[in-house]
Amino acid sequence: METKTGTEGGGRPRVVLATRNAGKIAELAGPLSAFGVELVGLDAFPEIGDIVEDGATFEENALIKARAVAKATGLTAIADDSGLMVDALAGAPGVYSARYADDWEMLPGENRDGRNIRKLLHALEDVPAERRGCRFVTVMAAVRPDGRELTVRGEWPGSLLTSPRGSNGFGYDPVFFDADIGRAAAELTREEKTARSHRGRAAAALLKRWPGFMEA
Ligand code: IMP
Repeated sequence: METKTGTEGGGRPRVVLATRNAGKIAELAGPLSAFGVELVGLDAFPEIGDIVEDGATFEENALIKARAVAKATGLTAIADDSGLMVDALAGAPGVYSARYADDWEMLPGENRDGRNIRKLLHALEDVPAERRGCRFVTVMAAVRPDGRELTVRGEWPGSLLTSPRGSNGFGYDPVFFDADIGRAAAELTREEKTARSHRGRAAAALLKRWPGFMEA
């Protein structure tokens, strides 16, 4: 029987990651199992519909999602929110990264990521190399059913290329350049990217603070 402590039949405590993305669940399930946690995704709770992310910051959006899922399930919930912040655009597209170019027409054969990149490169057309700084940001929020909350942040500093490079990854990866290794994010393997990325850093910060957060 399921209980409010999130254990099923006396098994490991269950924690919900507020996503239906199997890749994101797999990335965090391994490390969290070291703490005796069974991580499940939103597919285990089909009754939970779309959660409106209308926060002004990554912190707000991650907390909105984690609070909603903790409330709906009675379990500890984790949620993340990510995006790209560009110095020359005062931090834009930020929380609007996924929908940045939704006001632009899609070209034949183009997808949403490609359209976002096209709009970004256009916005930075006249910006010289030394002012093309940017960073990827991920905030992860964890919320317990008793209301205790934790947020952690991971950042990956870089600069924006003038044309796409590489074919791995997703989103803005082809125009994000990591000067420390001299490669675009889309030129990294999944493992190389996780070792440096905002998401990898946020996950490491969450795991470090997990035991303290889950203490009674
Ligand atoms: P999400 O919050 O993880 O869904 O990320 C929101 C949006 O930010 C994505 O749709 C991408 O446009 C952008 N983004 C976040 N993380 C990355 C990344 O690792 N590479 C490229 N783009 C990213």
